[in-house]
Amino acid sequence: MMVLSNEGVKCGVPHCSLCNEPAVLFQRHLDRHLCKAHVIADMELRVTNTIKTRQMIAPGDCIAVALSGGKDSTALLFLLHRLLPQWENVRLVAITIDEGISGYREETMHSAEQLTRRLGIEHHCITFSALFGNSLDTFLEGRESQACSICGILRKKALVVSAQQAGATKLATGHNLDDEAQSVLMNVFRNDLPRLVRNSGVDSSGKFITRIKPLSLIPEKEIAVYLILNDVWNELPECPYTRYAMRREVRSMLSDFEYKHPGTMFNLMKSKEKIECCGKGSVISESLRSCRECGDPCSGDLCQVCLLRQTFD
Ligand code: SF4
Ligand code: ZN
Repeated sequence: MMVLSNEGVKCGVPHCSLCNEPAVLFQRHLDRHLCKAHVIADMELRVTNTIKTRQMIAPGDCIAVALSGGKDSTALLFLLHRLLPQWENVRLVAITIDEGISGYREETMHSAEQLTRRLGIEHHCITFSALFGNSLDTFLEGRESQACSICGILRKKALVVSAQQAGATKLATGHNLDDEAQSVLMNVFRNDLPRLVRNSGVDSSGKFITRIKPLSLIPEKEIAVYLILNDVWNELPECPYTRYAMRREVRSMLSDFEYKHPGTMFNLMKSKEKIECCGKGSVISESLRSCRECGDPCSGDLCQVCLLRQTFD
């Protein structure tokens, strides 16, 4: 409940739209204030609904949570750990990829170790050096402008290998609504509609480990508030290669749009779902083949990792 001053100007601390407690979050797209207890309850309910609606978890699953140590993956592991009793016989393991980015990875690795110790979750770490023969820093010498695309390709592969080594049946990543909406726009900007369609939350082809994104409908800002309220917020450095990322520009543009036109990101996700429906069976949803070198699923002759490896030789 807002307090009106004598002049009729809104002032004072806003109160929760669902109870009378002081609010800690304003959801602009819903024009709704929430207090601490309702932020936590609302977040956990929405994540549970996403998981159930999209059938992301089944009894007997072993979920490998990709834990970078940053805020999204921290929130994902924390939330799944808290929601786990809802599912029968489901186990969590955390996997962390050390790409070899000096001055950045050390702190996030430490944060990941602390969280898994606190929650009592099995933690597996794998390095780019062990898997691909060198650190990301070394691979990027002279090609820093391609940092995120190279890192993304190698990290995706490392996550799959690590999840398989841990005996996982699903791979969960902490992509939030902002990340997903940015990816939709970036794929459109690059005229890469097949990737836009492939980026779906659940893979049912059976050719590779099913990836799930339980936070894909949660705005980044709400994740940060949830972490602070649960006392798991950790201020961490930014990856030094971020400045080369196209995503950074798209992120800033989209945040601006979301502020001026609340609901923009949700609308982008709805558009993506419609494109996915229209694209089924058409040229934009290419069928998967097997990589000629390593047998991994891919759309061409070689998978992206094998194509990349050729450029390192
Ligand atoms: Fe990798 Fe780019 Fe993320 Fe850095 S910002 S960790 S290089 S994807
Ligand atoms: Zn390959």
